[in-house]
Amino acid sequence: MYKIAIAGAGAMGGRIGVSIKDAGYDVTLIDNWEEHVKRINTKGMEIKTENDTFFVNLPAVLTKDISTKFDLIIILTKAMASEEMLQSLHEAGCIHNDTAILSMMNGLGHEERLSQIVPLSQIYLAVTMWTAGLRGPGQLLLEGEGSIYLQRADGAMDAHTNTILQILNDSGLNAQISTNVFEAIWSKATLNSVLNPLCTILNKTIYEFGNDAYSNEIVMAIIEEIVAVAKAKGIHLDNNALLKKVELSYPKDAQGLHYPSMHQDYTNGRLTEIDYLNGQISTYGKEFDVPTPINTMLTHLIHQLESKL
Ligand code: NAD
Repeated sequence: MYKIAIAGAGAMGGRIGVSIKDAGYDVTLIDNWEEHVKRINTKGMEIKTENDTFFVNLPAVLTKDISTKFDLIIILTKAMASEEMLQSLHEAGCIHNDTAILSMMNGLGHEERLSQIVPLSQIYLAVTMWTAGLRGPGQLLLEGEGSIYLQRADGAMDAHTNTILQILNDSGLNAQISTNVFEAIWSKATLNSVLNPLCTILNKTIYEFGNDAYSNEIVMAIIEEIVAVAKAKGIHLDNNALLKKVELSYPKDAQGLHYPSMHQDYTNGRLTEIDYLNGQISTYGKEFDVPTPINTMLTHLIHQLESKL
């Protein structure tokens, strides 16, 4: 049977893993959080939805204990842990010549880093609009609906892409194959690069940030840099469409009442994914000689906050 692993089984990895398990597939959660793994194996994963609480039984294994070979590994650690995770799985013999490695993480440049460990032709990229929360070890909070766009990182189409699509859709995850996943990834990364650092630095909800006469002036300045860097990388983004995307998240009945995930990470004493958002824009800017002073400054400001943790 096709063997699937979720590498990094926190909020999002838990959501994807439980959905795939519910569809009858052979799926294993891999994580390095001992209490989480232990609770999943003893009680099952506890799922709280808007109107229900129930348990799903599926195996969870600590990264240090895994040695199974997998056909598909979905990477859902936070971005800064992904290379360490993939390297551990590689050294443990979990990856064979035909294992598909699917990154579903937020942020930019994952294909460049992960292809230092496995060939680019084995790497697949996805962007997801699903969300998930973790209430404690082995306890997921699942609300709302989402979708997934995916493509092989080198743009080639192969049988694996169709198999992954089938698995995700059997699992009710509303997936589609994209012909330009980079556009979707950069577009989501732009939204995150705007709202994550600004709401964290300002300590504001998305609504509070948007509800200011000058918020869009700040947003547009960040977007303009990102669009210029994307262009240098051969990716077409549209300034006004991106601004609209940001504006659509302001209302209280959209995401407005929430603090973005970076704010939650920072206030809970965890490092953020800034280096894979504005920080990656800044790195690409230097590489392609495109000025990115605002994204660079936001990166430094978040690092200053992180240094207080
Ligand atoms: P999370 O912190 O809930 O989960 C990450 C998991 O990875 C944790 O269980 C942690 O123990 C584990 N982990 C960290 N380092 C590890 C290592 N070296 N080896 C093994 N396990 C390790 O984070 P999340 O919210 O699920 O986010 C995961 C990714 O998905 C991020 O890139 C995030 O931006 C993206 N994402 C999240 C959401 C969401 O709503 N939560 C939505 C879309 C995308």
